[in-house]
Amino acid sequence: MATSKVLAGRIAVITGGGSGIGRATSQLFAKHGASVAVVDRTQGGADETIASLPSHTDEQIHKSFVADVGDGDAVRGLVAGVMDTYKKPATILVNSAGITRDQLMLKMSEEDFDEVIKVNLKGTFLMCQAVSQAMVKSKVTGGSFINISSIIATMGNIGQANYSASKAGILGMTMTMAKELSRFDIRCNSVLPGFISTPMTDRVPEKVIKMMLSLIPLGTLGQPEDIAETCLFLASPASKYITGASIDVNGGMMG
Ligand code: NAD
Repeated sequence: MATSKVLAGRIAVITGGGSGIGRATSQLFAKHGASVAVVDRTQGGADETIASLPSHTDEQIHKSFVADVGDGDAVRGLVAGVMDTYKKPATILVNSAGITRDQLMLKMSEEDFDEVIKVNLKGTFLMCQAVSQAMVKSKVTGGSFINISSIIATMGNIGQANYSASKAGILGMTMTMAKELSRFDIRCNSVLPGFISTPMTDRVPEKVIKMMLSLIPLGTLGQPEDIAETCLFLASPASKYITGASIDVNGGMMG
């Protein structure tokens, strides 16, 4: 069956696009007709993702961009670069860039707390702000911003005070942005993945994975494609009446 080109003519910026969930989302969005701007903090991963996408056509141009999403100047430079490339602003944004710096809160360093908040929470803010500013300035409407939070936002996790704070912050911030940006026809939603098999979770010890599996009613770890499919729904007109929402994608795991 032919794939529906539900994102044809759209430009999607995907942060953290060089790995895991961001890469799977880039691949799915390209398959459905979007031009994809793959953003990562290093060139290698972003280029590998680009190489995995269907080849460019006149309608679809895919390009890698290197930027640290926690750095305001870098983010504004990136969004200007996207404008330069496509001659119009992106209307789809997936904020998947994220890091962990796990430690018990009794021992967590201030640096590790700040770094996780900077990349995960401030990075999401800066990207949403720069992309919405570009849309408003160009009077382009019909946006969809998708912010990747985590199940840890709502249930906490030992060793992740910094990460859970950053991901819970994304939920509140996304609801506020949904209210502020709806008058510009920009929707903002969060996705809360459970335990997804990606390079981020590859280093989790086998015995912890076994324990996690016992908590997942559907009985398997999630795959990056499971999150990508939810992002596709949120990016497409099928979700046109959904904003300020958060969607759990966790195999039924409830804490
Ligand atoms: P991943 O490590 O495979 O990918 C994250 C990507 O973000 C990497 O390519 C990395 O280089 C990039 N990145 C990190 N810091 C950056 C920065 N400052 N600027 C630009 N890019 C940066 O991880 P993943 O599992 O694909 O995670 C994607 C998102 O999903 C993250 O926000 C993560 O917190 C969230 N998440 C993942 C899981 C899971 O189980 N894998 C669960 C819940 C939420």
